[in-house]
Amino acid sequence: MTLRKTNPPRIVIVGAGAAGLNLATRLSRSLGRKKAAEITLVDENLTHMWKPSLHEYSVGTKGSDEEISLLEHSHRNRYNFRLGRFAGIDRDRCMVQLDPVNDLHNRPLAPLRSLPYDILVLAIGSRSNDFGTPGIKEHCLMLDTPTQAKRLQSELLNLFLRLETGALGKDHSTININIVGGGATGVELAAELREATEQLAHNGIDRLRDPGIVHIRIIEAAPRVLAALPEKVSKKVTRHLGELSVAVSVNARVQHVTSQEVHLADGTILPSTLTIWAAGIKAPEVVGTLSTLETGSLGRLKVRPTLQSTHDEKIYVIGDCAECFWPEKDGFLPPRAQVATQQAEFLEAQLTAHLAGKPLRNFHYIDRGSLVAISQEGAVAALMGKAIGTVTFEGWLARRAYNYLHFQHLSSVQGWLRAVVLTALGKAMRRVRPRLKLH
Ligand SMILES: Cc1cc2nc3c(=O)[nH]c(=O)nc-3n(C[C@H](O)[C@H](O)[C@H](O)COP(=O)(O)OP(=O)(O)OC[C@H]3O[C@@H](n4cnc5c(N)ncnc54)[C@H](O)[C@@H]3O)c2cc1C
Repeated sequence: MTLRKTNPPRIVIVGAGAAGLNLATRLSRSLGRKKAAEITLVDENLTHMWKPSLHEYSVGTKGSDEEISLLEHSHRNRYNFRLGRFAGIDRDRCMVQLDPVNDLHNRPLAPLRSLPYDILVLAIGSRSNDFGTPGIKEHCLMLDTPTQAKRLQSELLNLFLRLETGALGKDHSTININIVGGGATGVELAAELREATEQLAHNGIDRLRDPGIVHIRIIEAAPRVLAALPEKVSKKVTRHLGELSVAVSVNARVQHVTSQEVHLADGTILPSTLTIWAAGIKAPEVVGTLSTLETGSLGRLKVRPTLQSTHDEKIYVIGDCAECFWPEKDGFLPPRAQVATQQAEFLEAQLTAHLAGKPLRNFHYIDRGSLVAISQEGAVAALMGKAIGTVTFEGWLARRAYNYLHFQHLSSVQGWLRAVVLTALGKAMRRVRPRLKLH
């Protein structure tokens, strides 16, 4: 393995999400502090939002005050942050190409530019997969990015305001919200949405006091929701959804979507005021343009067990955009925050070894189970461990375990003390402010 002689070597991480921000923080505290490497983090956004909480941002139970400023974070942790949209790699010259990022008025915030690297880490996450279904791009909202979460929050609030003021018209005596995809995203969003409508009913949207006015439905092609998780979890979650009056259609494949309807393959037509698409993921489109790197299923970049890309040992890929073999399951690792976090932790030691010219290790994923939130107070957990096997539980304790996941992430990127203070402040603010963002 040959490293170009620069002093110190430049590690460029693209994507400041669950994997990238965690890795940049770790490296800045180890290699960066010792001046053994120059760490640069690139993102197309100025802030980091913990993606598993996107559904909470999208209904307004979390607000922008919980985002992490990448400018401030990089300054405090002494790494470089560069605003830019990743557009490609010149592997011969070891340069990352960045497209400009513009503001809302289309004025450039960051120009077209290239960044040199000695080691490149790609951590640009994933996007919703519409599987080429007609009408999705035009008529569905998705939940991949902070911008989309904010748009969904504003669409939902405006919809309920129009219902309250009568601007929806007399024909709209009910609101039908269809969520396509019964994975964790769809389930958590449906539950959060139901809770939000109940909150809004006590915050000025009186029409929502009628419990029959908002119909929420999850549409899932598999025979059960959360098909990737143990059946026990799926059954418990389905029961909770029933209690929240969330309808669930299983074995239901969406054929196409129009501005007011969802058409299923069996001929059923569901009225739809708002359709949200949360059915599976694929790699971001830019990955398809990286013709010199090998891609696999869902367009993700194939990696070796060391997490290096199969075609270039100077390029590592982690998180949702990596296709990493999972020997225990004879398949690929799932797109989960748990995988992204473990890969970031692993890569800190791996890159240190890489720079020192030491042998590299293989990444081993430890599946610690799954947690699915169903409202602000409830969750269903299936935790796994060698000693305990798989244990499922629900309710308050499961929700605390779910919250702890976010706390762990916050603690990794903000430090333990800051994470405790921020969590305590967040709780205090929720007591004195409306529980929902209402603007
Ligand atoms: C609503 C929802 C709920 C979820 N719940 C859970 C859960 O409970 N448990 C769990 O384990 N997983 C959950 N997930 C999945 C989890 O969020 C992802 O697996 C995880 O965030 C992947 O981390 P990542 O770093 O690969 O990508 P991300 O966290 O998505 O980060 C990618 C980063 O790359 C940046 N980026 C993307 N493209 C570019 C570009 N071209 N140029 C520059 N920057 C770019 C983005 O701005 C972002 O900062 C959930 C996902 C969603 C949407």
